[in-house]
Amino acid sequence: MSVNLQTPIDYLKGVGPNRADLLRKELGIHTYQDLINLFPNRYIDKTRYYKIKELQRNTSEVQIVGKIVGFKEVAQKRGKRLVATFQDETGTIELVWFRGQKWIKENLKQNLPYVIFGKINWFAGKFNMAHPDIETVTAHKSGISIGMQPIYPSTEKLATRGITNRMIMKIMQQVFVESKGRFVETLNDSLLAELKLINKSSALLNIHFPKNQELLARAQFRLKFEELFYIQLQLILKNLIHKSKIKGFPFDKVGDNFNTFFKEHLPFELTNAQKRVLKEIRADMGSNAQMNRLLQGDVGSGKTIVGLMSMLIAIDNGFQACLMAPTEILSVQHYNGLHNLCKNLNINISILTGSTKTSNRKVIHEALENGELDILIGTHALLEDKVKFKNLGLAIIDEQHRFGVAQRSKLWKKNTSPPHVLVMTATPIPRTLAMSVYGDLDISIIDELPPGRKAIKTVHRYDNNRLKVFKFIRDEIKLGRQIYIVYPLIKENATMDYKDLMDGYESISRDFPMPEYQISIVHGKMKPNDKEYEMQRFIKGETQIMVATTVIEVGVNVPNASVMIIESAERFGLSQLHQLRGRVGRGAEQSYCILMTGHKLSSDGKTRLETMVRTSDGFEIAEVDLRLRGPGDIMGTQQSGILNLKIADIIKDNDILQHARYHAKKVLNEDPSLSKTENQVILNTYRSLSKYKNIWNYIS
Ligand code: ADP
Ligand code: MG
Repeated sequence: MSVNLQTPIDYLKGVGPNRADLLRKELGIHTYQDLINLFPNRYIDKTRYYKIKELQRNTSEVQIVGKIVGFKEVAQKRGKRLVATFQDETGTIELVWFRGQKWIKENLKQNLPYVIFGKINWFAGKFNMAHPDIETVTAHKSGISIGMQPIYPSTEKLATRGITNRMIMKIMQQVFVESKGRFVETLNDSLLAELKLINKSSALLNIHFPKNQELLARAQFRLKFEELFYIQLQLILKNLIHKSKIKGFPFDKVGDNFNTFFKEHLPFELTNAQKRVLKEIRADMGSNAQMNRLLQGDVGSGKTIVGLMSMLIAIDNGFQACLMAPTEILSVQHYNGLHNLCKNLNINISILTGSTKTSNRKVIHEALENGELDILIGTHALLEDKVKFKNLGLAIIDEQHRFGVAQRSKLWKKNTSPPHVLVMTATPIPRTLAMSVYGDLDISIIDELPPGRKAIKTVHRYDNNRLKVFKFIRDEIKLGRQIYIVYPLIKENATMDYKDLMDGYESISRDFPMPEYQISIVHGKMKPNDKEYEMQRFIKGETQIMVATTVIEVGVNVPNASVMIIESAERFGLSQLHQLRGRVGRGAEQSYCILMTGHKLSSDGKTRLETMVRTSDGFEIAEVDLRLRGPGDIMGTQQSGILNLKIADIIKDNDILQHARYHAKKVLNEDPSLSKTENQVILNTYRSLSKYKNIWNYIS
């Protein structure tokens, strides 16, 4: 008889109601199945014997063969400790006992071969092992080999209530006894064969009781693959269902606006990457399904023009388009830029933000509803109920990380059918993460900068070098360049930060006095009109220095600005630093980014600064950010199952993830409804895993 793995854990021999309760509360283990899926955090390798010279300061538990060549007693504060010198043919370490010294001295023999096992410590220039497990080589050879010993996750409460690692090993063994070690296979034969995976039963046996390193590695690979495979399968299925369920407006025409613009008004040649993503977007909007696409491209890679040309396609097909940006400054800049680009086309563009006057608002609302307005650009103001489009065909969201998913879907409600949605972001989500978390969004990537850009020189300087930095600023200004100086104002109303900014502004005003120098200041507490006024002075070149907070972080484009100075740079996150640096290097001149800090830096802070100095590749920076902060912090917590994986790690197991995605796609391409006999096992597993059982209504 095979056991039912859904049986409550209480029924397992050796568990009982009290322990079952603890297992439920502390580890979320309710059933036999849950217990089997409690994978060890790590293993102690008892198959391996170390030589003393191999020991490293980060080595943990080791097993060594050697002999004791001498004892000594060392006095300490209270009592004494017994120290033995243990030697193999490569060196010596010390064995230390604080208790039971009499027994040790009477029973351990010098010059007899022993096997010792324990945790290695590094102390006063030497390796030592306190209270080692010790047995003679003869006894060791006749004992049972336990190979790799699993170490299970635990909690303080479990440990104090007697549910030790040994105890968990025992009840784990019991599950294997009761089920005779036979578990239902969850992948099909062709996957097992193609990827040379071991079967499920063998994987489970070797994840809990590995015979050796190799079998452990194979078990881990198989289980990680399986975990990632089913997540990818779910994401890809969601995407397929979305496409078959949500009809979009088919933009099948390539019309006058697009063609005229492309042939006559494009101010530069598009990069190959821009051409490629435009093709992807056109194909998407031309199909019957609603587009849901993420456009990733590093700062300065030229996303705006791609956005504009996508909007022209919408207009050519008789629809309206909107472009939503996170800040007023950015909206105005987009408006000016697009207005300028479209001046020779017969297109109506307006801007709507929080500071649009009521009288103006009314005009815009009307023109929007009767269809006179083709493109509306703006901030969150676009989401207000009063804003009603006649026929919104395409919604573009710039710098998506400032908009929540809920806000995005608000745009949908403005139509009978949802518009196509294009989300543009310069905060590259690492490819791995994007693939896993946004498996249900399509992704286009601009991975090429327009030609002729000079790499920005980035340096890290300590505050006490400020005079040199100021001299450098003066030299650059003499050459006609403009300078940004950015202060952390992480919370816009934090008084301390605000004071730092104002102090900084005053000291800069002293070092760069009028009338020789003109300085702009922009921060979040200013009225939108004042901000805009100051921005415009800087854009027009009337001021040489812009002192600002991160309000200028996103999208601002002043090609003549060539120096970005970031004060207290250690307080910024990596993606913020990268965004800020992206404000320079937009013109033909060599640009610089100077990261100013004090001497006191955390290790993460150091890593962030080093990364910025080393690379300007946004994707590489995003990968480091992901490693430093973890996916939860970057993506928000509830995004997807990818964040509470049981065994795989989306960073370390990136290559397995790629395989898993490839194979999930392949399986679904060949058999979208998983109805072939050979895929029965995948369908069954998927059904039992899936919380979205109802989605099957749509595909089968
Ligand atoms: P981002 O992707 O950061 O939004 P923008 O769209 O603001 O970048 O483009 C940055 C700058 O590069 C703009 O001044 C834009 O006019 C210019 N640009 C965009 N594409 C090209 C291109 N193919 N060739 C030359 N310059 C380009
Ligand atoms: Mg932009």
